[in-house]
Amino acid sequence: GADTVSDDLIKSIRTIPDYPKEGILFRDITTLLGDARAFRRAVDALVQPWAGSKIDQVAGIEARGFILGGAVAHQLSAGFVPIRKKGKLPHETVRIAYSLEYGLDEMEMHKDAIKPGDKVILVDDLIATGGTAEGATKLLKQMGAEVVAACFIIDLPDLGGRKKLEALDVPVRTLVEFP
Ligand code: AMP
Repeated sequence: GADTVSDDLIKSIRTIPDYPKEGILFRDITTLLGDARAFRRAVDALVQPWAGSKIDQVAGIEARGFILGGAVAHQLSAGFVPIRKKGKLPHETVRIAYSLEYGLDEMEMHKDAIKPGDKVILVDDLIATGGTAEGATKLLKQMGAEVVAACFIIDLPDLGGRKKLEALDVPVRTLVEFP
């Protein structure tokens, strides 16, 4: 059942204390990605609610959202749209500022990546405060996307990210939680 999948996935995620700085428990999915069975199960579980429905684009957030988003897009027969840190995309972009733990940063997407009315699923590895995914959602909506859902392997529920996206009317799907 679903609980077995979550248990297996949780075991495949490595925790690094005090990375990138003291007090942070870094949830490292490279061990999940390197485990063929866990990687497949995670992608299958993420897309399961939309199997057989028409999704136009999967938007992945740099950098771990690229790895998962590419696999999700293939599975749903959708296109893939990269959302990147500023200055990395070669063509004309749209840009948005978003809040980090300390201060602001900017992310961007190609201007022609989304057509108005496109059904889009947003993908990243983990949702913490939700600031990153909120910025990405706003950027997609500015371009006329219908953000059907936001999917993450890991939720840190104490940081409240889910509520930020739900306030934008975006359903959130996550597979495992770390308190
Ligand atoms: P946030 O904007 O606070 O939801 O942070 C989400 C982004 O930061 C995602 O792209 C995550 O990959 C990364 N992130 C935040 N906290 C962690 C953590 N404890 N372990 C691994 N990645 C994290």
